[in-house]
Amino acid sequence: MEDCIFCKIVKKELPSTLVFENERIMVFKDIHPAAPVHLLIIPQKHIPTLSHCSEDDAALLGEMMALIPKLAREEGIAVSGTETGTPQGGFRVVVNTGPDGKQDVYHMHIHLMGGPRPWKTPN
Ligand code: 5GP
Ligand code: ZN
Repeated sequence: MEDCIFCKIVKKELPSTLVFENERIMVFKDIHPAAPVHLLIIPQKHIPTLSHCSEDDAALLGEMMALIPKLAREEGIAVSGTETGTPQGGFRVVVNTGPDGKQDVYHMHIHLMGGPRPWKTPN
C-alpha cells in the first residue's frame, strides 16, 4: 500500500525505533507513547484492520501475540509476584479497530503499553 505509513516503516522508507523484526512481523516504539513503554506490533504484510483477518491469519496473529511475553520481559514490564499473591508490573494489549474502535492508522497493529502508573491514557 503506497500511502500507508506502516508499510513505509516496513520498507524502511520511514524511520522507526525498531525493537524486533522477522520475515513476518515488526515491532517498533510508538512515536507518541501513551505509557512509559508503548510498542506497536505489526504484520509486515498490509492488513487494514483486525476485522479483515480470518482463520487464515491465525498463525500470524498467534505469532504476534506470543511475542508479547518476551517483549514485556525485555522492556521490564512483565508481571511478577503472582506466586506470593502480590502481582507487580504489567501492561495492556489493545487493537483499535475501525472508526468506532478509534483506529487512526489503517495497517493493523497491536499496542503494547505498560510501565509504572499513572499513564496518559484513562483507566
Ligand atoms: P491507532 O489509533 O491506529 O490504534 O494507533 C496508531 C498509533 O500509531 C498511534 O499511537 C500513533 O502515535 C502511532 N503512530 C502514528 N504514526 C506513527 C509513525 O510514523 N511512527 C510511529 N513509530 N508511530 C506512529
Ligand atoms: Zn500498510
